[in-house]
Amino acid sequence: MKTLDQLQFDNRFARLGDAFSTEVLPEPIAEPRLVVASPSAMALLDLDPAEAETQVFAELFSGHKLWSEAEPRAMVYSGHQFGAYNPRLGDGRGLLLGEVLNDAGEHWDLHLKGAGQTPYSRMGDGRAVLRSSIREFLASEYLHALGIPTSRALCVTGSSTPVYRESRETGAMVMRLAPSHVRFGHFEYFYYTRQHEQLEALGRHVMECHFPACLETEQPWAAFFREVLERNAAMIALWQAYGFCHGVMNTDNMSILGITFDYGPYAFLDDFDAKHICNHSDDTGRYSFSNQVPIAHWNLAALAQALTPFVEVEQLRETLNLFLPLYQAHYLDLMRRRLGFTSADEQDEALVQRLLQLMQGSAVDYSQFFRRLGEQAPEQALNKLREDFVDLAGFDAWAADYRARAARDGDDQQARRSRMHAVNPKFVLRNYLAQRAIEAAQQGDYSEVRQLHAVLSRPFDEQPGMETYAERPPEWGKHLEISCSS
Ligand code: AMP
Ligand code: MG
Repeated sequence: MKTLDQLQFDNRFARLGDAFSTEVLPEPIAEPRLVVASPSAMALLDLDPAEAETQVFAELFSGHKLWSEAEPRAMVYSGHQFGAYNPRLGDGRGLLLGEVLNDAGEHWDLHLKGAGQTPYSRMGDGRAVLRSSIREFLASEYLHALGIPTSRALCVTGSSTPVYRESRETGAMVMRLAPSHVRFGHFEYFYYTRQHEQLEALGRHVMECHFPACLETEQPWAAFFREVLERNAAMIALWQAYGFCHGVMNTDNMSILGITFDYGPYAFLDDFDAKHICNHSDDTGRYSFSNQVPIAHWNLAALAQALTPFVEVEQLRETLNLFLPLYQAHYLDLMRRRLGFTSADEQDEALVQRLLQLMQGSAVDYSQFFRRLGEQAPEQALNKLREDFVDLAGFDAWAADYRARAARDGDDQQARRSRMHAVNPKFVLRNYLAQRAIEAAQQGDYSEVRQLHAVLSRPFDEQPGMETYAERPPEWGKHLEISCSS
């Protein structure tokens, strides 16, 4: 276990030089205070959890202090936003402070979001508000607890610094950790500015640090693209299986590592709705829940374009064609587990599709459905779940097929229950729960966000006494409008 001053840095990205990032010092926020910290994220840096309670912790993660070995830099990138190319984005309010080398030999980027203006701030103030910082923190740590690849969040620091959005709010910073902050948009930036030397250096850097096996192949760039595509197919399958809606799948928000990244107006589905749009500013539903699959494919095609100096177009196209089958195989595997099956059957895909069609337009809570399905033997569970469906005849036909299918796997209910509960969370990061915690935090009471984080860090466990956190949203909580402003 280490104290904060014992962290070791090895700033590999900074060493790539000024074509890739610009030196910028964090601009502190006033009267810093710890809002919430994640002990499991601290463990990635070998940090003693007690360090979170020290004054220096809040000072480091609010821009007041800096390690002497840190080299804070704003990264340059571009990207496709809502389908249109934006030639110059970059870290407009976040800084890569450096890379911590932990005892296991892993590098973890420390990225401080809300650290003030940079050359890439455009019209922005360089700040992040408490509301969005808490949302990013909760989502990062919850997706991780579910087993979905994601950037992590070490802590949120609050302040008295005023920040103006639709109304006056206060500034906060979130300390984000990831093995890399390179996005699809990094590659697009060097491709579209015709800096092919830098593009090549970036690719080499990413392969050396994160995909060393690619360098052993005859065509490292082709292998690299395939690896990114496979990771994305696996990640999107998890999003769809667990009802996670990202909301802003611009290529500058897509990690080259295939981890969930840059949380904005995200949501987990409450009642199932394939067409759900969680981003209030997404008028056309480009990033609706069911569109996430074709959009991920589209984003990979945008990345492929940036790799054309190194890989034949035909080969990129062939790899792109693997996306949907790979996604589908992962998704089906996850849904089989969620339904409690231990084997694969040809009929499973249709069974899943029929279930989702029945849920659509009914008032079926997506997450609770699976948890309750495992709670009791199929017959009793289905009898109870039936009440929430509109098409009862359709549901009865599905239920009969499900029972027959479950019987073929043929095991006792206790084994089925523990198997299903291990993949079907009891606790879900619902917007209304986050909202309640945010409102308390805005009044200076951080107990709710800490409690919620603690509950959500063990989403599959029963946690007696915490049942209220597992409830469906109240009516007000179903229709929260989460704006893009953050
Ligand atoms: P996002 O929608 O958060 O992914 O941000 C898109 C782009 O806008 C990125 O380049 C951000 O760095 C930048 N950006 C977002 N909010 C701000 C802000 N308040 N100040 C400066 N830049 C920002
Ligand atoms: Mg972003």
